[in-house]
Amino acid sequence: MIKPIVAIVGRPNVGKSTLFNRIVGERISIVEDKPSITRDRIYGDAEWLGRPFILVDTGGIELDTENTIKEQMRYQAEIAIDEAEVILFVVDVRTGLTNMDRDVANFLRQSNKPVILAVNKAENYKQAEMDKYDFYELGFGEPYLISAQHGQQTGDLLDQVIDHFPDLEEDPYDDQTTKISVIGRPNVGKSSLVNMILGEERVIVSDIAGTTRDAIDTPFTHQDNNYVIIDTAGMRRKGKIGRGVEKYSVIRSLRAVDRSDVVLMVIDASEGITDQDKKIAGYAHEEGKGIIIVVNKWDLVEKNNNTMNHYIEEIRYQAGFLNYAPVTFVSALTGQRVLEVLDIVDYVSEQHSRRVKTNLLNSVIEDAVAMFQPPSDKHGKRLKIFYVTQPKVNPPLFVLFVNDAKLMHFSYKRYLENQIRKAFGFEGSPIKLITRER
Ligand code: GDP
Ligand code: GDP
Repeated sequence: MIKPIVAIVGRPNVGKSTLFNRIVGERISIVEDKPSITRDRIYGDAEWLGRPFILVDTGGIELDTENTIKEQMRYQAEIAIDEAEVILFVVDVRTGLTNMDRDVANFLRQSNKPVILAVNKAENYKQAEMDKYDFYELGFGEPYLISAQHGQQTGDLLDQVIDHFPDLEEDPYDDQTTKISVIGRPNVGKSSLVNMILGEERVIVSDIAGTTRDAIDTPFTHQDNNYVIIDTAGMRRKGKIGRGVEKYSVIRSLRAVDRSDVVLMVIDASEGITDQDKKIAGYAHEEGKGIIIVVNKWDLVEKNNNTMNHYIEEIRYQAGFLNYAPVTFVSALTGQRVLEVLDIVDYVSEQHSRRVKTNLLNSVIEDAVAMFQPPSDKHGKRLKIFYVTQPKVNPPLFVLFVNDAKLMHFSYKRYLENQIRKAFGFEGSPIKLITRER
């Protein structure tokens, strides 16, 4: 299913990131790891009344530092207008209406996207009901009083948000088709890589058109396997439009990641992984997508016997949470190793959908427990793992049935995850471990 995107906009300090965390945080995440990537997240998976959506805090989208606040806000509003289905416009009832709010409103009014006005910080504030009328001036209809910090009325707000969602749209591809998205900063060579893959004579690009999505996706066949590169047009389109547009691709990338099975994270060999890369890759990781790190422009690198190893070490250091992702070195200019990327995609997609036999799985966990005892609490009560199952694939999900879930530590979970990987691989695929009390 294709998830709508909801973008939070507003001037600094109105409570955008608090609202983001409130909405995304209330969803029980089954990936409880990697604090480093969750700290300053700006993209998250959310759900309200059974409707999943992607929430974006545009306030956290990186912009050139030389931009003024006004330019930044304009930019963030533009991104929201271009890419989101619904815009959540946040203002602060305690400060009251400011000129900056009016500026944001002016940008937003230029679009015909639905805008929901959230008047934040309304808890314990007597004049809130009165003051909210000031915000009618912005022209977005009923202002909703909320408290992002305390979670008050955010449910009513979300009722409004999902009311504006488009009808559910199913992705048109069958289970046998591997959906690939290509992410990475501008100019790392995404379009070149895609063009090189599709231009290979052993790759047969199909031109069936059907649903609206086909217009931007490119289905193709290679060695009897079916693939589709998601949102290829989005990549090819750029270039003409110039500055600014590159930022837009961030949200578009999210949607592409969301719809894909395997994500190719392309980085420029001379730049390495950037924070922006980590944020999008973090989203892919949390969404449980297969991930391959593609180091492009390898032709430009001066090499010796150890260059690749050093490179891999550096990537592992920069983005430890992707330690399961294969790294490959290509040149989209010369074509070096470009077709091999598809072999890695096949491999990762196989790992991603791999199901391990229950008895094997349990013996691996038993061995792991025998080798290194589970933690105990200060009363000496020790975690007991009764048995393990793998109810899901894509990504693999493991459920540990235990005596007391509170006794499970992050570090022990990671240890078990490593043991599972050691035994079964799952290269390129995030895996999820959850505990259930029996
Ligand atoms: P952003 O810059 O728009 O992302 O704003 P933040 O989410 O960082 O919030 C700015 C400040 O407002 C922080 O000190 C928050 O703790 C505070 N804040 C956010 N939401 C609320 C709220 O509902 N009530 C109150 N009283 N303060 C809030
Ligand atoms: P995108 O913005 O990520 O889609 O990047 P493009 O595919 O448009 O490539 C940006 C620039 O890098 C173009 O000038 C390409 O010709 C160049 N480029 C792409 N891949 C390679 C490569 O492997 N080696 C070299 N030397 N240049 C490349």
